[in-house]
Amino acid sequence: MNEIETIPAKKILAVFAHPDDETFICGGTLAKYASEGCDITLVSATRGEMGRRMGNPPYLNRETMAAAREQELREACECLGVKRLIFLDIRDKTVEFTDMDWLIRRIAGLLTEIQPDVVLTFHEMLGGHPDHCAIGKATTAAFQASGRRGALYYITFGDAMEFPDQYGYTRSDVVRIDVHAHQEAKLAGFRAHRCQTEIDEWVWLPNEEAQLYFGRYEYFLIGYREAPFLAGDSFF
Ligand SMILES: [Zn+2]
Repeated sequence: MNEIETIPAKKILAVFAHPDDETFICGGTLAKYASEGCDITLVSATRGEMGRRMGNPPYLNRETMAAAREQELREACECLGVKRLIFLDIRDKTVEFTDMDWLIRRIAGLLTEIQPDVVLTFHEMLGGHPDHCAIGKATTAAFQASGRRGALYYITFGDAMEFPDQYGYTRSDVVRIDVHAHQEAKLAGFRAHRCQTEIDEWVWLPNEEAQLYFGRYEYFLIGYREAPFLAGDSFF
């Protein structure tokens, strides 16, 4: 008997607001866990059709942008190894005005269906954008309402959480994932989000030069996990 087949794959559910959140903020981590066999489902609340960047030179408009960004996100998921993508069909920049009860029920339904080992979302205060904060708040409420199974982590920007005390947290609240070996996949994800990144010259430099712009680590705040004794460099 093949022992590997007897161990069920770990499951990660990432609930974000826009196409590109997954790649720009935690693409290295998603690629890392996908490469280790994790089953990753990504939920994007919107299709990002209100994004300010419309290609360079601009070739999109408000009518064409949703479909273009949906397709870009599908390509980014392939680059990162994300197997399943779900849109909540909320209009970009309106997540905070969405019926919260509906949104929490929708996400709780996914938690029940998927039973993830790890849930990733935005911190409701540190999300940096109203859509981010709103989807983070709803996902946290859904996680709590459905029995707090597994672990909940909040994605954070860049290396801000290298010094968590400035946000009122300590090192023990932070998981730091080494994504050094997955920067090529992350860069491919950046390039998949072409209408958002083609104005950034560094993204299109030769791979090794472009990857110098990425940090070695991605940082996550621990929202909830059952096993606080785990090392601070891994989700599981
Ligand atoms: Zn976003």
